[in-house]
Amino acid sequence: MRLLSLFVLGALIALPQSWQAGAAKVDITPDGPVWMAGYAARTKASTGVVSPIHAKALAIDDGKKGRVVFVTADIIGFPRSVAEEIAIASLKRYGLERSQLVLNASHTHSAPVIWPNLATMYFFDTTEKARVEAYTRKFVGQVIDVIGAAIANLKPAELELDMGSASFAMNRRLPTPEGIKNSPNTAGVTDHAVPTIEVRGKDKKIVALLFGYSCHNTTLTGEFYDISADYAGYAQSELEARFPGAVAMFAMACGGDQNPFPRSSLANAKAHGHELAEAVIRTTEKTGQLLKGRIRSGFQMIELPFQPFGSNDFEAELKSTNKFAVRRAEAMLKMMSESRLSHTLAYPIQAIRLGQATVVTLGGEVVVDYCLRLKKQTANPSLIVLGYSNDVMCYIPTKKQVAEGGYESKDSFLYYGQPAPLSGDSEDIIVDKVMNLLKKVK
Ligand SMILES: [Zn+2]
Repeated sequence: MRLLSLFVLGALIALPQSWQAGAAKVDITPDGPVWMAGYAARTKASTGVVSPIHAKALAIDDGKKGRVVFVTADIIGFPRSVAEEIAIASLKRYGLERSQLVLNASHTHSAPVIWPNLATMYFFDTTEKARVEAYTRKFVGQVIDVIGAAIANLKPAELELDMGSASFAMNRRLPTPEGIKNSPNTAGVTDHAVPTIEVRGKDKKIVALLFGYSCHNTTLTGEFYDISADYAGYAQSELEARFPGAVAMFAMACGGDQNPFPRSSLANAKAHGHELAEAVIRTTEKTGQLLKGRIRSGFQMIELPFQPFGSNDFEAELKSTNKFAVRRAEAMLKMMSESRLSHTLAYPIQAIRLGQATVVTLGGEVVVDYCLRLKKQTANPSLIVLGYSNDVMCYIPTKKQVAEGGYESKDSFLYYGQPAPLSGDSEDIIVDKVMNLLKKVK
C-alpha cells in the first residue's frame, strides 16, 4: 500500500510541464557610418539610421536538463567564423552544446557587413574595412552577452505553437526565353506560412514571440543608405508595441528565392511588416498547440559537392572583365596553392524537438522548396524549417534549379567566393541527412 501511494505521488509530481523561458534583446545599431551588406552596387557607407537593429535571444529549458537558445539578428548572415566564435564562448560561459544554439539572421540588406560574409562582393578601402571589422567584433560580444541575459531571465513559462499566414512573399525566378531572370514570378512556388512559437509567463502575459517567414528581407533596395531592419524590423517593433515587455523575434525561414512584393520603398517595408505583425497577432488570439514534453537537439556538419572545377578555370577567369570574377579567381588560386580548396562545402544542419514541435535549421540561403519538401516528407505541416542559420555561405538551390541556372543556383556563387556552384545532388543529400538527424533526435 505504501509503495503504491508513493508511486501515485511520483506520477502526480511528474505531471505538470515545467518549461522555463527567458528572452533578451540588445540594440546593435552602428554608432556611425559603416558599409552595408548585400548589394554589390553600393558605393559608400551608410548615411543614417531609419530604424534601430537588434540581436535577440530566447532561452527555453524543459526542467529536465534539456535546453535550447534561439538567437535572431537583424543582419545579413552569420558567417561560419562568427558563428563558431559565438558557439565556443556559449559552451565555455553557459555550458551550451553546439546543438543547443541556433543563430538565425533576418537577412536585411540594410545593416552593416558582418565580416567576412560576402567578402568578394565589396570593394572598399582600408578605413571602411577596419570599420566593418570593428563592427563585427562588437556584434560578436553583444550576441554572446544577449545569450547570457536570456538564460539569466529563465522563468516558468507556457509554450504554444501556432500557424499564421502572410501573402507578400513572391517567387523571384522568372522563366524567360533567355533563361531564369531575377524578377517577380506570380506563377512561382511560395510558402506563406508564418510558424509562431508563443511564450507566455505564468500570468499568461506574452514574454516572447518567435515567428518565421520565407521571404528575402529586401524590400529596401541598393539605393537605400540608411540602416534598417526592413520589413522584419517593422513587424518586430509593431509586436513589441502591442505586447509591452515581450521580445518579438523574426527568424528567416526558406526565403532564398522569394522577394517581398511590391518592394523598393520604405512604405512597402512598413506595409509588409504590418501584414506580418497582424498574422502573428491573429495567432496569439487563437488557441494553438500547447507544447508538452522535452527538448532534444542535434547538430551536424555535412559535406555538399560543388560542380567540378580546376585551376585552369580560375586562370581563365583572371582575364575576365568582371572585377568580382577576377577577385574570386585570385582567391581560389591562392587557396589551391596552399592546398586549402575543397571540392565539397561544409554545411550545418540542426534538428530540435520542443515537445511536439520540431524545428529544422539549415545553413545558407535556402530556397522555399526545402520548406515545402521537408514538411511533406516528414508528414508534419507544422514543421518549422529555418534557413539562414549557423552559417550563410551561399545559396542552397534545388536539383531542378541547378539544372535551370539563374542567380540562386549559379551567379551568386561568385559573390560568395565559392569555387563553383553546388552540384544538383546537394538537395537529396541535405534532405536525407536531415531525415536521419530527425530519427536520432526523438
Ligand atoms: Zn539573399
